[in-house]
Amino acid sequence: MERIIGIDLGTTNSLCATVFEDGPEVIEAAGASSTTPSVMSWTDSGWLVGQEARESGITNPENTIFSIKRLMGRDLNELGDYVNQLPYQIVEAQRQLIKVRIGENEYTPQELSAEILKKVKMQAEAVLGETIQKAVITVPAYFDDAQRQATRDAARFAGLEVARIINEPTAAAIAYGLDEKKEGHVAVYDLGGGTFDISILKLSGKIFKVVATHGNTQLGGDDFDKAVADALKERIQKINPDATFDDPESKLLLKQNAESIKTELSFSPESSYSLEFPKTGLTFDGVFKVDEFESLISQMIEQTLESCSHVLREAKLAVEQIDEVVLVGGSTVIPIVRKKIESFFGKPPHVAIDPYKVVAIGAGIQGHLLAGGRRDFLLLDVIPLALGIETLGGTFSKIITGNTTIPAEESETFTTNVDNQTSIDVNIFQGERELIKDCRALGQFKLRGIPPMKSGYPLVEVLFCVDANGILTVSATEKRSGQKAEIEVIPFHGLTQFEIERIIEDSYEHALDDFNQRQLIEFRQTAERVFRGIEQSWDVAENSLSGNERTEIRKQMESVRQSMQGQDAQALKVQLDLLGDLTRPLADNAIGRKILAELQENESVI
Ligand code: ADP
Ligand code: MG
Repeated sequence: MERIIGIDLGTTNSLCATVFEDGPEVIEAAGASSTTPSVMSWTDSGWLVGQEARESGITNPENTIFSIKRLMGRDLNELGDYVNQLPYQIVEAQRQLIKVRIGENEYTPQELSAEILKKVKMQAEAVLGETIQKAVITVPAYFDDAQRQATRDAARFAGLEVARIINEPTAAAIAYGLDEKKEGHVAVYDLGGGTFDISILKLSGKIFKVVATHGNTQLGGDDFDKAVADALKERIQKINPDATFDDPESKLLLKQNAESIKTELSFSPESSYSLEFPKTGLTFDGVFKVDEFESLISQMIEQTLESCSHVLREAKLAVEQIDEVVLVGGSTVIPIVRKKIESFFGKPPHVAIDPYKVVAIGAGIQGHLLAGGRRDFLLLDVIPLALGIETLGGTFSKIITGNTTIPAEESETFTTNVDNQTSIDVNIFQGERELIKDCRALGQFKLRGIPPMKSGYPLVEVLFCVDANGILTVSATEKRSGQKAEIEVIPFHGLTQFEIERIIEDSYEHALDDFNQRQLIEFRQTAERVFRGIEQSWDVAENSLSGNERTEIRKQMESVRQSMQGQDAQALKVQLDLLGDLTRPLADNAIGRKILAELQENESVI
């Protein structure tokens, strides 16, 4: 079967995907980024394409071409004023068609786009170890015939035969297997680097039809970067009113820092920065908070939602008639963007596949099907790795076991280990090992406001819920007080099938060791509890046991302590059992029974 790869030829970034034995995945070299910035820079030694070109962009603006996709299949008339905003030079070829002039040479947008495709193709060939001749390439739903034809030409120049051109939103819906459903309406919200698109697809008989599209060709993550960069400038000028940022180095520095602050704020409530301007030698340190970022971009997010309302009106659909919402584009990773989309559509969007990969993956699946492949891989219909929380001593308590089909829901009750604990940290992990140090952290939250109680008395119910989209919601409720807290996470974000398999294999390999480690931790905890029980009821022992018996108990406690220092779980168990035998006479009275109960009890503590 001749492979047909899928290529997402983006305005900002391009990448490709295919169906491997384990299912569809982007094609990336180990340790390298899977995306190629859609940027090229002309140098004395020829074209630089991708990341290097992007970095040289600000210092070498006239020779650096970005956003070439906006020029594909367009003539001067259609582009209007836009050509004047570009730092590189546009010239008119015959019949209003355009070319880009670099030095002495002129290039059509198709030729330039071909450079990006060549780079993507070459990288894929290096990873796969085979030559690639055919591809499915995606384009925005609103691309007209001329733009689609230009895309085909670009592929031909890059030595690729186009098996099919498909719409980006359609590719995203295919990636989620939505084409396997019978019928319905899918909204695809795509917020990339420089453009926003909303598309409504209608599915019937496994075929998607684009019923309406809307968007903004001048709105995207670049604008968020600019907002952050402007805020940084303002901060700096407050301290240093004479600071200027017009030289290329300062511009580059600001833009790069703004983007990395933005990206970090998708995963953390604040981002600290340390800027050092080489020209002036000035340095500025500070912290950017997510609230500030959110207020900077909120107006722009509102604009995208207005487009969503518009497109629904155009499609003559009420928002309730949208059955599925799919997120596409790097900028939809931003939590506030997700939140606003969810509240607009009244349902959680599909996010289980990385939004920057989803179009390429859908195109890869389409290519696989066109090449005669079958769609017998299942996308996230089971939970591949156990999900659970950290319990005392760094142990991993599984709440949902691996291989459970989704949607799934499980709960378990835990208690505390310390008296008067008024808050509890819930640390969420996934993995197949016994200790959290060998598992993958997914998130954490605090359950606060628990009234002071003795240890072991609070009842904390932890509920794990994985919905049909693979999104995990974890909640914790203290049953006696009714206090509740919860968090939402995407468990398999960024994990490939291959990594999942490696994690499972690792767990087999370490099974015995892990078991011993875990028992050791648990027996040590039991021992601590037993010691506490004995100390608490020592009065009783003084009245009911002989001096000899009490000495024996003390001696045995010492032996247990020594075993607790060791690494042998079974040896510790033997010593603990001996202590149990010695304290058995205490069972005749109430407090003594409590001690024995402690010995047998094995409830998990958070
Ligand atoms: P395009 O479809 O235009 O080629 P992409 O889908 O690749 O664009 O999105 C690129 C944009 O996504 C950039 O502005 C980039 O800064 C932004 N982006 C990527 N990752 C994140 C993240 N974790 N948080 C916020 N923005 C991100
Ligand atoms: Mg895109």
